[in-house]
This record gives sequence, structure tokens and C-alpha cells, in this order.
Amino acid sequence: MKSYDQLFINGHWVVPVKGGTFTSIDPSNESVLASVAAATAEDIDLAVKAARHAFDDGPWPRMSGAERGVVLRRIATGIRDRLPELAEIEVRDNGKPLPEALWDLEDAAGCFEYYAGLAEQLDENVEKPVALPDDRFSSVARKEPVGVAGAIIPWNFPMLMAAWKVAPALAAGCTMVLKPSEFTPLTALELSDIALKADLPPGVLNVVTGLGKDAGAPLSEHPGIDKLAFTGSVPTGSRIMQAAARDIKNVSLELGGKSPFIVFDDSDVEAAVEWIMFGIFWNQGEVCSATSRVLVQRGLYERLLERLEQETRKITIGNGLEQGVLLGPLVSRSQYDKVLDAVAKGKAEGARLVTGGNRPANLDKGYFMEPVVFADVPEDSWIWREEIFGPVVCVRPFDDEADAVRSANDSRFGLAAAVMSRDIERCERVARVLRAGIVWINCSQPTFTEAPWGGYKQSGIGRELGEWGLNNYLETKQITRYNSDKPWGWYIK
Ligand code: NAD
Repeated sequence: MKSYDQLFINGHWVVPVKGGTFTSIDPSNESVLASVAAATAEDIDLAVKAARHAFDDGPWPRMSGAERGVVLRRIATGIRDRLPELAEIEVRDNGKPLPEALWDLEDAAGCFEYYAGLAEQLDENVEKPVALPDDRFSSVARKEPVGVAGAIIPWNFPMLMAAWKVAPALAAGCTMVLKPSEFTPLTALELSDIALKADLPPGVLNVVTGLGKDAGAPLSEHPGIDKLAFTGSVPTGSRIMQAAARDIKNVSLELGGKSPFIVFDDSDVEAAVEWIMFGIFWNQGEVCSATSRVLVQRGLYERLLERLEQETRKITIGNGLEQGVLLGPLVSRSQYDKVLDAVAKGKAEGARLVTGGNRPANLDKGYFMEPVVFADVPEDSWIWREEIFGPVVCVRPFDDEADAVRSANDSRFGLAAAVMSRDIERCERVARVLRAGIVWINCSQPTFTEAPWGGYKQSGIGRELGEWGLNNYLETKQITRYNSDKPWGWYIK
């Protein structure tokens, strides 16, 4: 593995001011994968000043959208050109199976291309006339970049989460400081290299690796930041919001979830089992939108559980680089312990453990666990109500549509939800009353760069992706002109 002991600030690779490093661990064997630069408040200050200078005096915000689009397309090509290598880095840093890492990287490249297109369109739509009821005046609404963005991201989709923030921010004309998770910092550093080779001007994208308290907190508190874009847990999101409140920074938050999946008893049982499993076991269940609470109508309940158990037991667990593996290790020791604790809690709370929860017999090192199915999970239990963020699905029966909707909506989260039935009208009806930012019908998880992404309730504020993602990084300015020769008439009559 190459060295990752420098930060990317103002278009240069620099050693952190205090010279610190931390280690990134390969979760499949618990060995040290890389020594990584640990930024502190001094480095954050340098990175924010570089981004500030690039915004206030540099070419990037003053370029046309089409010109910025050219650079974004070069970044997309830079990712595509290195797909296998970047995917391997992602697997070794995060643990996910290689085909899923390849999806993420393809999606990340696609995200840069998509926002290149929106940057181009921005040139035509940058100013829109506003109709006024007084013909002495004319007015336009103009879109301008919000300024310097600070982006803080989690470890579950390292490159993709970076793309979801960097691509729209750059398309809008913002400059930025990106802090990846300390558990998966490597591909964000590779992205810096790709941006450098794509001729992104210095200071437009700065990447600072480091711990949450040492690098994330000073970034969220820095007065030189205009906008904070955060993806991560609810408690950290709350801290970010408090930091932003001090000097009224614009803030968008993508937080956790405990998303329901309602399966009516007219559903095809095989399709239901596959979508349920994909909805909770892909990416080891370390997915904010994972459909971790499954509500099954009583008529199908036992049959579905039987098939879910059979298929779950067949899942191949192992190093994500090995062919055929569907479930890699969890990302870190702390996440592994947290998920194992949740399984113990579930058993103590009276849920029926259908399968899973042990370390696979053939894997004595690494953060591996058998995927878990809990049935008859009490509605007031911790495992039903709280985000576990691992391969643990909680299932319970329901009687009718009203009961299912009530139970699905009974959560402090509201990121995603899914509903399955052969009765499409029923699905459409239920989709409209679920209190969630994303609702899937007859599937779970498919995500498109074009469509809005974000949560209700404690799952977040604002939307990423699509045109909504671009608007996150744009201010709207009103320019109003007085066109009359006549005096205004306040004191000149
Ligand atoms: P986390 O909140 O622990 O960390 C996220 C990021 O915040 C990391 O980069 C971390 O270093 C940083 N951080 C930690 N403390 C900080 C502080 N005091 N100030 C500033 N930054 C700080 O979350 P995680 O464990 O990395 O990710 C898992 C969580 O992310 C889950 O709750 C999951 O649901 C959520 N998530 C949400 C989405 C979404 O789109 N809604 C997507 C992915 C993950």
C-alpha cells in the first residue's frame, strides 16, 4: 500500500502541521492497511483559508458552468480509468464485496458526469425573470454559489458519499474542504489526486483526513465556512447543527434511519425474500436507508420467515476481494462490537432469533458475523426502534393496511420505506402516507443520481442528488431595478 501521510491543501500534498498520523485497518484481517495524515485545527485553518482564497479571488466561481463541467467530466474519467484499483482500495479499507465497490465507483463517476450536465444547464438558467405586479420595476432571481463548503462524510460508501457532495458543490461554483471518515480515508485522498490531474484549480477542493473531534469539529466551527454538508449519525449531526448555529451557517444533514419494509400477503414470496435480503444485507447492512424493520402481513408471515431463514443461511461470508462473497466484514472493531451488542440486546428483549449472530467457523480473524434474522420483535424493543447499522433484520407481523402504516410511521427516523404488494393501487396509496423521504414500491434500495435523497424527522434536513443536490450549494439573489423616470414620490412629489 502506498503512503497516505499527507493532506491535500491548496493543490499541494502537505504534511500536517503537527505531523500526526493515525492508522486505517483492513477489517478482513485486522492488520494495518495504511498510515494516514491526522489533521488538527491548524491544518483545517490552512485548508479553509485556501478554499476561501480560491472562492474570493480564484477563477472557479467566475468560470461558466460549461467550463466547470469540463473539469467535472475529467474527474469522472479519472475515476473510471482507475476503477479496478480504486475498488480494491475501497474493499480493503471498508470491507465491502468487490462487485459492490465497483458499483459505488461507477456511481461516483456517474455523479460527476451528471453534475457536469447540470453545471452546463446552469449557464442558461442562472437568472430567471420574476413577474412583479408594479410595471415600474423589473426583477430577476439569480443563482450564485453559496461560498466555501465544509463536507464531513461517513465510512459506509466512502467514494460515493464524497461524490454526492463534491460533484454538486463544484458544479455550483463553490470551493470546499472535505473530511472523510477516519475509518475509510483512502479513496478521498485518491480523489484529490484525480482532481489535481483533472486541472481543478488550487484550493477548490481540499481534503483533510483526521479524527472527528480533532478535524471534523474544527471544520464545523470554522468561521470561514459558509455551508456545512454532513452525512453521518444523528448525535454528530446534532453537534454539527449546534456548531453551525453559532454563526448561522447554511447546513444540510443526511442522518440515520430505521426504515420499514411493508410486505402484503399477496406478494410473491421469492421476490419479497430477495428484496428484504438486499435491503438489509448489502454493504453488510451498513446502509443509512437499509430496510431494517420488516412488517409482514400475517397470512404470509411464517412462510416468508422460513424462506428468509433458508436463503440467509446460504449467504457467503468472507474477504470482499474473494469471488462469490456477498457479505464482507463490518468496517471496524467498534462497529462490530456495537452490532454484536445489539444482537445480545435483541435476545434479552424477547425477540426470536431465527438465524445468525455468530462468527463464521472458518474465519477466526476480521470483523465477520453471520447475518441475523430476528422474528416476533416487540414494537417497543430497542432493536426495533434504534439503528443497528449492521446485517440484522427485525421482522414482525401485521394484520391490515392501517396497522402496517401506523407501525411503519412509529419512528423518530424517516429516511426511507418500502412497500410490496401485487395490488399496485394499494402500494401507491401506502407510499403517499409513509412519513419518509424515499419510498420504494416492490423493491428496496435502488438509488438514482437524478432523484432526491434525504430524510424526514431525525433522518435529516435538506435533499442531496438531482437538482435538489445542486440547490444545496446555491444562493438565490434578487436583483430588482426601478425603470421609471418619475420620482418615487416619498418626498419629491
Ligand atoms: P459519525 O457521525 O460517527 O461520523 C461521520 C463523520 O463525522 C466522520 O467523518 C467523523 O469523523 C465525523 N465526526 C465525528 N465527530 C465529529 C464532531 N464532533 N464534529 C464534526 N465531525 C465529526 O457516523 P458514521 O459512524 O461514520 O456513519 C454512520 C452513520 O451515518 C449512520 O447513522 C448512518 O445512518 C449515517 N449515514 C446516513 C446517510 C444518509 O444519506 N442519510 C448515508 C450514510 C450514512
